[in-house]
Amino acid sequence: MEVRDLPSGSPEQPVTAPGDRELPVEARGLWGDEADVVRGARSVVVGHHAATELLRDLARRADAAGTRVSAVLGRPVRPVVLVPGSTAEAARVAGVGSVAGLAAVADGGRVVVVPEYFGRLTPTGRDVVLTHELTHVAAGTERLPVWLYEGFADYVGYRDAGLPVRVAAAELAAEVRAGRLPGGLPGPEAFAPSSRDPVGLARAYQEAWLACRFIAERFGEGTLVRLYRDAQTGGVDRGLARLGLSAGTLTARWRDYVRDQLA
Ligand SMILES: [Zn+2]
Repeated sequence: MEVRDLPSGSPEQPVTAPGDRELPVEARGLWGDEADVVRGARSVVVGHHAATELLRDLARRADAAGTRVSAVLGRPVRPVVLVPGSTAEAARVAGVGSVAGLAAVADGGRVVVVPEYFGRLTPTGRDVVLTHELTHVAAGTERLPVWLYEGFADYVGYRDAGLPVRVAAAELAAEVRAGRLPGGLPGPEAFAPSSRDPVGLARAYQEAWLACRFIAERFGEGTLVRLYRDAQTGGVDRGLARLGLSAGTLTARWRDYVRDQLA
């Protein structure tokens, strides 16, 4: 195993040394001597047969993603990113049957990058994906409706990405311009990974994103975070009730918001 530190001093790279934080268990156990490790200011990236430049790029992006997630959640986030050598190995590491078509997945306390698909993303896309997955890792997804945890992850992912909403939600915008508004918040079937409808899958994420974006704009970002936590502990209906909303009134107001933002 080889541990490499990032050079400090570049504009993207904080100058503070990463210190001697203990290596994550992944670095010690997963690939043994074949693992390469790059430390960012707050992140650790562990790669298997990966190019050092890729790992350094990922450490910079993971640091930035950690900062973004921290800013929303209000507590420190220290990303651990694993970079398997192939798509098949990524599926094994994440413990799932297939990761085909996914750029990265959240798995327990770490983000697993799927090198083949991640490599096809634009720089902005890489930052959005890393931030999205890191939000899942840091905030958890258990006991939540899928629209809330996917929408929240995209809310954090797009929050500082600098993309106009009509660009980031292009597939949904096309539907709205054609006079079709979504009927209801997207459920698990809309996010099924086996979906053979990539446009529909993209729309589901965009619908969920705009639901969380609506809540943050209308009630404040802190209220969105509180709703997320309330929903994890007491159920989403109780969390919404604290905002004076029901599932039905949220849906109606979200549909108005989608039309206003994208028409
Ligand atoms: Zn997600």
